[in-house]
Amino acid sequence: MRSFLKIYIDRLGDGKTEKIDETLSPEIMDVHEKDLQFNRPIQLLGKAYLAEDHLIIQLKIKTEAEIPCLICNERTQKKIVISSFCHTEDVANIKGHVYNCAAFVREAILLEVPSFVECAGNCSKRAQLKNYLHKEETQFPFADLKQE
Ligand SMILES: [Zn+2]
Repeated sequence: MRSFLKIYIDRLGDGKTEKIDETLSPEIMDVHEKDLQFNRPIQLLGKAYLAEDHLIIQLKIKTEAEIPCLICNERTQKKIVISSFCHTEDVANIKGHVYNCAAFVREAILLEVPSFVECAGNCSKRAQLKNYLHKEETQFPFADLKQE
């Protein structure tokens, strides 16, 4: 699996659009933490084109993060889908007219990682904790925290 996605500026002349349909290695995430790991491929679908002196990249990004469940602490896979991500880069800043997308894809994914995850969206251990939780929290688990 590749760990880079290169856009060649010189191929985008005359209003050409380059279609992007790639799968990148989770190695690009370079995260090795107890509470956050990436071990599933990163799917990218979208396009790149030039708008005057800027490179515009529009992507749909899909992957999964491995995060411990807030309730039972079991490792759980959380789907991360960014349906429409747009990145703009000044062509003057692109060395050698080749742009590697991996860095901004990594940042976009990290920004989407939720602070709290519950396994299967509804932890089986939650019932055991029910008596300790407020009624509202049982119905809408940590809803206001997730908004942030
Ligand atoms: Zn759980």
